[in-house]
Amino acid sequence: MSEFDLVVIGAGPGGYVAAIRAAQLGLNVACIEKEGPLGGTCLRVGCIPSKALLESSHLFAETSTRLKDHGISVPSVSFDLGVMMRRKDRVVNGLTKGIEGLFKKNKVTRFLGHGKFVGPGRVDVVSAAGTTELTAKHIIIATGSKVSNLPGVAIDGDRIGTSTEALSYAEVPKQLIVIGGGVIGLELGSVWNRLGAKVTVLEYLPNILPGMDAELAADALKIFTKQGLTFHLGAKVKGAKVEGSKVTVEIEGAESIAADRVLMAVGRVPNTENLGLESVGIQLDPRGRIPIDAHFKTSAAGVYAIGDVVPGAMLAHKAEEEGMACAELIAGKHAHIDYNTIPGVVYTHPEIASVGQTEEQLQKAGIAYSKGTFPFRANGRAHATGEVEGKVKILADAKTDRILGVHIIGAHAGDLIAEAATAMTFGASSEDLARTCHAHPTMAEAIKEAALAVDNRAIHF
Ligand code: FAD
Ligand code: NAD
Repeated sequence: MSEFDLVVIGAGPGGYVAAIRAAQLGLNVACIEKEGPLGGTCLRVGCIPSKALLESSHLFAETSTRLKDHGISVPSVSFDLGVMMRRKDRVVNGLTKGIEGLFKKNKVTRFLGHGKFVGPGRVDVVSAAGTTELTAKHIIIATGSKVSNLPGVAIDGDRIGTSTEALSYAEVPKQLIVIGGGVIGLELGSVWNRLGAKVTVLEYLPNILPGMDAELAADALKIFTKQGLTFHLGAKVKGAKVEGSKVTVEIEGAESIAADRVLMAVGRVPNTENLGLESVGIQLDPRGRIPIDAHFKTSAAGVYAIGDVVPGAMLAHKAEEEGMACAELIAGKHAHIDYNTIPGVVYTHPEIASVGQTEEQLQKAGIAYSKGTFPFRANGRAHATGEVEGKVKILADAKTDRILGVHIIGAHAGDLIAEAATAMTFGASSEDLARTCHAHPTMAEAIKEAALAVDNRAIHF
């Protein structure tokens, strides 16, 4: 038996950040992770490998289509999928090893195995090598999430797979059906579309990217359709049948469609399997999540939960913020997260990024707002680079001018949104952004112009 101040179960962005921060604050910390590499879904099979493939496939698509505009000719462009995948694996390995290094540097003790509560303050680490019992005054559950399934669609990890398989296909599918027009469907659908697959996205709702600002989601639908993705909206999938190397997907009220691969991307569910929660009296909410209070405390004394396993957005940076704040509260410090200023980014091309409230949310809440939009086609840098698609939209309180939401679709939107998140964190008004000098020529000038447009005084549009 080993005794610690804090035991963290799960070494994803929530868990590893909590472990490192608590160790920095002087706690004796252990982190249990069942997979060999550290870093969780995000580093191993999520954010990082998907962004590596998005970059490789983007470079291929750009070289094939856009270079001639710049007067650059490349006689023939081809790619080697094996090299692309090995590069992605190298990126992942480098970063997961980096977390190992950070654990060593901060003296976090790592346990390899499945963590399971066996009573208050007691967690077993179960592995092929046997069982080790750990005790701690504080325990953080950071076990993340796993893919959600649909009735009638049996994921076989081959013809019908999840994002994990779609990050490692050995060859480009001829036809790929993506079930779910959310973030994973669009990011990985884009990767395989760029590499030559005929991609069909089946989305249950009447629009893609539900939850995003509807105007931007509608813009995105047009752009992705132009890029060659096919969308069936309002499509209710009834089942999928594998026959040899083909999968046929049945859609209610419509003709079935066939493909050589199906990617299931209808969301993720909290991972609480075999955690022994009953031994500490924790009950899940109706959506399988662990309920917590504003200080990440569960119903069990000394047990906290963070990241994808608790309610809220399933995002790596949200998990990290919670990991940081939870560790600081355990160490007796103050911490607070403003969930309204957590940005979300879809890493397609163009990128789609948002922070704060959407127009639909403001309308539903009956909040009067002013709106300023500015298209990138009126931005000098966008013309210089040839990336003129998209716009910036700023929503500000009609009375106080405080910024309530910023939504961007366009090249580098994921980086541009940081300015909006910072402004909102400091309670800025659209006037504050409008009066901030932005370097010329930059894409960020579109943010200043959208802020000016809130008061109908944009200069360049
Ligand atoms: P996880 O990262 O899921 O980590 C939980 C860890 O706990 C895992 O390593 C798991 O093995 C371990 N574990 C579980 N149970 C036990 C147990 N009983 N004992 C020991 N270990 C256990 N988010 C973004 O913000 N940006 C992106 O670009 C992005 N891209 C994504 C792309 C894909 C394809 C996917 C699937 C997700 C993506 N996400 C992205 C979401 C992001 O990965 C998650 O929000 C984030 O990883 C959640 O962090 P977490 O620490 O809560 O859980
Ligand atoms: P999602 O919630 O983004 O999208 C799921 C989509 O599937 C939705 O559009 C939903 O309406 C649709 N859907 C649900 N049931 C359906 C059905 N029966 N038939 C057809 N469509 C159906 O989920 P995801 O894309 O699976 O991603 C999972 C999580 O991972 C998300 O919470 C996301 O935040 C996170 N993630 C984030 C990023 C990023 O930040 N860039 C990237 C990938 C994943």
